[in-house]
Amino acid sequence: MNHITVIGAGTMGNGIAHVFAQKNHPVVLIDRSEDALNIALSTIDKNLARLVAKDRITEEVKSNTLANITTTTDLVSAVSNADIVVEAATENVDLKLKIFEDIDKHAPANCILATNTSSISITKIAAATSRPEKVIGMHFMNPVPIMKLVEIIRGYRTDDSTCKAVMEASSALGKVPVEVNDYPGFVANRILMPMINEAIITLNEGVAGVEEIDTVMKLGMAHPMGPLQLADFIGLDVCLKIMEVLQDGLGSSKYAPCPLLVNMVTAGRLGVKSGEGFYLHTRGSKELLVSSFFK
Ligand code: NAD
Repeated sequence: MNHITVIGAGTMGNGIAHVFAQKNHPVVLIDRSEDALNIALSTIDKNLARLVAKDRITEEVKSNTLANITTTTDLVSAVSNADIVVEAATENVDLKLKIFEDIDKHAPANCILATNTSSISITKIAAATSRPEKVIGMHFMNPVPIMKLVEIIRGYRTDDSTCKAVMEASSALGKVPVEVNDYPGFVANRILMPMINEAIITLNEGVAGVEEIDTVMKLGMAHPMGPLQLADFIGLDVCLKIMEVLQDGLGSSKYAPCPLLVNMVTAGRLGVKSGEGFYLHTRGSKELLVSSFFK
């Protein structure tokens, strides 16, 4: 597996392009927006510079990594020579189905089609193609260059050779791949999101304030970040969407999103990306100011 195409140059796509390029793969990074491509290249440059400053890589590795990445807005040319396409476009089912229909038409017959989706059914995405046995979930964690896990999700028709190839490719990146089956939320979000939702319910019922809940989980359970702070980083809109996928897919009221989460998303309080979530986030600063709104 040599030639890599990454679709979507946002938060996840730029990280996925970075890690493959640093392992000497030629990477084509595609986005529908030129701006997104330029921002992605400058983010990769900055992240590589940080690794050089920490003596983790040399200047030569940095420049080779950047030289391995080409960018384009043309999907047909981007996939025509690919051994694997990793799709990391916006989390929207219709958009992803259309992308998979298109790449299926233009990618070589033996090319593996992987998706980084957090919550959409791999089996459903595979059904939009003529090669469901070659479609698989490759769920990297954020930030991609740092996080070790890749959750590898087998769709209903994914074959053994596709799974083996993607597990090996993930290991070659220095990651730890874990194989799971295609069920709503897979494993990571099936377990993480109900915990975050329960933290929001606990807040909403007045059991404790934002800081208290996060401190209990950080110091009591050795979590590096409290669930409410983590929700702000993930994006409250993303958390809500995943709870809805769990509720619809598993048909149980235990996955019902907390009404406070629904209200915050409706009001545009989305966490870090909007500047306000359970905390106030000052632009360009990591300092978190606890909002008194929920106390
Ligand atoms: P993002 O919004 O940062 O980036 C998405 C990019 O996709 C944008 O640059 C957009 O212009 C581009 N795009 C949209 N439609 C396109 C198309 N038709 N062709 C090419 N590019 C297109 O999103 P993100 O946070 O990087 O998430 C991407 C995927 O990764 C989603 O499926 C998400 O669920 C998943 N994911 C996200 C995280 C996270 O923490 N952000 C973690 C794991 C998985």
